Formats: sequence, C-alpha cells, structure tokens
Amino acid sequence: MTDKKSIGLSIFKKLLFPGAALTRSELVKLHNIRPATLFAIVDELKDDGIIIEPERKGFKTGRKASPLKLNPDFGYFIGIELHTSYCSGVIIDTEGNVCVSVSIKSEAGKDEKRCLSEITEVMEKLKADSGGAVWAKTKTAGFADPGLVNGRDGISVKAVNIKGWSNLKTREWFANSFAKSCMLVPSNSARTYIEYKQFNNPPESLFHIELDQGIGAGFIKDEKLFSGDSFCGMEIGHISIMPDGPLCQCGNRGCLEAVVGEEGIRKKISEFKSSRVETKLNPDSFSLEEFIKCVNQNDKAASLIAYEISEKIGLALVPVAALLNPSVILMSGRLTGLDKILLPAVKRVLTLNCMPRAVNSLIVKVSTLDRQATTMGAALLARDQFFLSGSV
Ligand SMILES: [Zn+2]
Repeated sequence: MTDKKSIGLSIFKKLLFPGAALTRSELVKLHNIRPATLFAIVDELKDDGIIIEPERKGFKTGRKASPLKLNPDFGYFIGIELHTSYCSGVIIDTEGNVCVSVSIKSEAGKDEKRCLSEITEVMEKLKADSGGAVWAKTKTAGFADPGLVNGRDGISVKAVNIKGWSNLKTREWFANSFAKSCMLVPSNSARTYIEYKQFNNPPESLFHIELDQGIGAGFIKDEKLFSGDSFCGMEIGHISIMPDGPLCQCGNRGCLEAVVGEEGIRKKISEFKSSRVETKLNPDSFSLEEFIKCVNQNDKAASLIAYEISEKIGLALVPVAALLNPSVILMSGRLTGLDKILLPAVKRVLTLNCMPRAVNSLIVKVSTLDRQATTMGAALLARDQFFLSGSV
C-alpha cells in the first residue's frame, strides 16, 4: 500500500504539469524497485480510472513506449477569483483543460455582501453551464482571495480595497453554500502558482511580482507557496522605497505601491501637468492602458514616468534577490506593457545592487499569461492539492 501511495505521488508530481507525459521505461528509471511490481501499481491506478495509457494497444515490435497521462475525466476542479473589479470562475478537468469559464463585472466600491452574492452567481453559472455529469464529478475548489489569507483556518483576514472583507470564515461559508470543499489562497499566490506551472523544467524557486493597479507578490520554493507565518509575507507593495514619498493606503509613506501603482502614476502625471511639461495624459481620465500607449508614442512625461517607476521596481526587487535568492523573478500585470524599459532597468538595478552570485544566473522575465490566469491558478492549486495530499 505504501508503495502504491508513494509511487502514485511520484507519478502525479510528474503528470501535473501541462503537456507532461511519462513512459513506463522512464518510470522504471525513477524507482529502485522491480519493473513487475511497478507495472502492477500502474495497472491499479489505471483500473481506478486515475491514469490512462491511450496509445498502449498491443505490443508492436519496435514501437516506442506509450506515455502515461492523467485521465481528464477522473474529476473536475473549480477555480474562483474575487477581484475588486470582477469575479470569475472556471472548471478544469484533471488534465487542466478548461471546461467552463464565467466572469462578471463588478460595480465600483463593492462591499462584502455584494462579493458573496457575486461568488454565488458565478458558482450557479458554472453549475448550469457545466452540465450535471461534470458538476457531479467536481472534487474541490480553489478560491483566490483579494487580500491577506489565513489558509490554515480558511479565513479571509483582510482586503483593504473591499469594505467589510475582513475576518470572514470564507471556507466554512463556501462549504455551507455549495457543499464543496475549498482551498483559500491569496490571489497573488494563485497567480504565482500558474506562472510556475508554465515551466517544462520548473525552477527551484520563483518570485512573482504583479504590477498593476496595486502591487503584490508571491513566492514558491520546492513546489510550496510561502506567504508568511502570520500571512503578511510577500507584501512587496508595502516596502518603502522613498521615505518621504507619497502616503500609502497602509498608512506608511513611499511604499512601492504608492509610487508605481495606478494612484502613484496619476499623482506623477498631475505634477508634470502643473510643471507644464507637454503630455497627452490626463490625470482625470487616466488608465494604465492609456499610460502605456503614450509611453510607446514617446510622450515625454509618460516616458519619464516609465523610466522612473521601472527603476523603483528594480530597487524594490533588490531585497528580494538578497533575501530569497530566487532562480526566477517573473513580472505580470498591465505595467509589464512597459517591458522594453522595465526589463533592462530591473536587470541593471539588480546587477548594480546585489551580490554577483545572487544575480549571475537569475532569470528575470515577463509573464505571457493574460489577466484571468489567476482563476486558473486557483483551480490548478485545488487539483494539485487533491492529488498530492494523499486523498487519491
Ligand atoms: Zn503601504
């Protein structure tokens, strides 16, 4: 039994990456036990409907070994993301393919009651759109929370942007409302997880920074996400980079988010306007998309702001490289539209300010995933926890 559990786990670990496949001969190389014993376990996992071996049809001479895969129809997994401006949901099969996805736009200034009713609406749409057979096979859900999360007890600790979203027993509410178990994670961790899952050869550690309206981060080391012992880790948005800088919503001055987040950029535009620097940007009708467009059109004020915030982002990443020494720093969010300025600036600041050994082989890159990938990340986390926690 122990053999079946541990070998099952090692197979799942390999197969839970997109496009992954494992042949019987590769499996034999990974384990120091008799092939016959190993194949008996593989056959049991096939009989249980967990894995499939689609191309193994008889034993043709000279034919390459057929790969083992997860059975897509073994079970389905739900991902939910609550964001200040939308709520979205997805159902994936065991292989990670999207079966259904739903997204609803939120009105500005939503409170906790409105958020709970949005989640209910998304869950009902997922149920209706997926059909009875798929819904009946949904095993568990991942919930990407917009704020700090006590994942151990399933509690939403606090989201500063949503009124009333604090100290909520979200996991319990989810189970009572939908009769589904739910894994609660900060949305930045869900995003970090899906970014990590994009690698064919996953790095030992990855630090992900989201550069958008707000600034957040996540860290994964040896396949495990870390968000601190009191759930406040990876708050890179609240590292002070300018002690006399603008006031942040957390109460401190000069936090990265207050300087390079949407509000920080808006303030900078106002400063340029009042100094009569020519610019197409208007602080009253401003969006990050508009800002990036102006940078690409060589608008002077927009370009100066872009260089300044890229430098500041690099400075905030210096302590990350010094303390965590990650293999990869990955940037996501709408501000990565500045990648031509951002990437070289961040690399330069890191090289100038870090120990050479910390950055010589560091990979710094920009995400290729879209904004809704976080919802998928939540579903993948739920799926992987289901397989790797020994419940299969
Ligand atoms: Zn702050």
